[in-house]
Amino acid sequence: MSLTNDKFLNISNSIKNSYLDEWKNNKKKVLGYYCTYIPEELFYAAGFLPYRIRATGHELDELADIYMVRFTCGFVRLTLDLALRGGYDFLDGLFITNCCDHARRMYELYDLVVFKRKEIKQKPPQFYVALPHVINEDGFEWYLDEIKLLKEQIEQEYTLKEIDNSQLKEAIKIYNENRSLLREIYNLRTLDNPKLTGSEFLQISMANTSVPKEIANNELRRILEIIKNSKDLSNNRKRIMLVGSVVDNINFTKLVEDSGAIIVSDFLCFGERNILDDVDLNGDLLENIAKRTYYRMSCPRMMDDHKKRYDFLLKEIERAKVDGVILQRINNCDLHGCENMLLEHELKDLGIPSLNIDREAFLTDTTRLQTRIEAFYEMIK
Ligand code: SF4
Ligand code: SF4
Repeated sequence: MSLTNDKFLNISNSIKNSYLDEWKNNKKKVLGYYCTYIPEELFYAAGFLPYRIRATGHELDELADIYMVRFTCGFVRLTLDLALRGGYDFLDGLFITNCCDHARRMYELYDLVVFKRKEIKQKPPQFYVALPHVINEDGFEWYLDEIKLLKEQIEQEYTLKEIDNSQLKEAIKIYNENRSLLREIYNLRTLDNPKLTGSEFLQISMANTSVPKEIANNELRRILEIIKNSKDLSNNRKRIMLVGSVVDNINFTKLVEDSGAIIVSDFLCFGERNILDDVDLNGDLLENIAKRTYYRMSCPRMMDDHKKRYDFLLKEIERAKVDGVILQRINNCDLHGCENMLLEHELKDLGIPSLNIDREAFLTDTTRLQTRIEAFYEMIK
């Protein structure tokens, strides 16, 4: 058995899937969110399906052009374009943070244009969660207040009763198990003879955020067995770590891997960064959920935390025996652009090969990218 054409992995190739349709047919709600600083456990505890918004496979942005300047992150522009074409009309609520200014602007645009479309009979509720920009005790207090407020808003808007501790506990258990399964799968990438490719892990991770978590956990257990019993992948490929902006399409990871490499590790928010750390089941459960989300390995939107990210990267490079690091950012993504520039200098000082590239959110300039990536592999000893 292999993962080729596996039903679960294929879920990642489209925006909707049969599990989601079944959920909706049973009159249950799907809540969409952009950023991993929104704690999914809260949605699950309330009985909803959290759906991480992505634009996989969408390659049009003419409609987005009307409302959003082209010097905006291509990922956000694609999601706007898709939203304007009805791609997310299945969502029963929208949750946005100030993760970056580009994604933040989507809050108004959903309100001003997406939900004003004639196809929308009833405007779904929208929620805004403010995130601190640094990690310290004051920041946590603020974040915790925001999460408490979010819980109240969900109760007022949807459940009409309190989300109680037993529901939170159940959600934490299922999410801890989910992350643990993903970590187990992830670790099979970092072996001397990896068992799966980076593209396959990305597919698993994207599918995981698009289906109910009980189903995801069953599927992850099944997939784990398939991977454990599969043949080792060739070990004479360059071992790459992929870092930077959101990657929601395997076209890009396949380009990296098809040129003679394997992505054995990553630092992406559809990747390792989001599966680290679990929620403590003792004490104040809501506070524990907020603690994990706020204090776990950060992304570049958190200022003053670069050193922690850099140290983590170095440990991962050693653990996964990485030959070279590809730092990539979607055009106009300032957060990852600045972080990648810093990392490029730091890795160079240590003699760790790295390639820093800008790219479109969907693959366009394939030949240019391929040439640069292949030249990078030749340079790696
Ligand atoms: S990179 Fe950071 S800010 Fe952007 S979506 Fe991921 S977690 Fe949120
Ligand atoms: S890729 Fe960069 S600019 Fe785009 S949504 Fe993520 S953090 Fe924001």
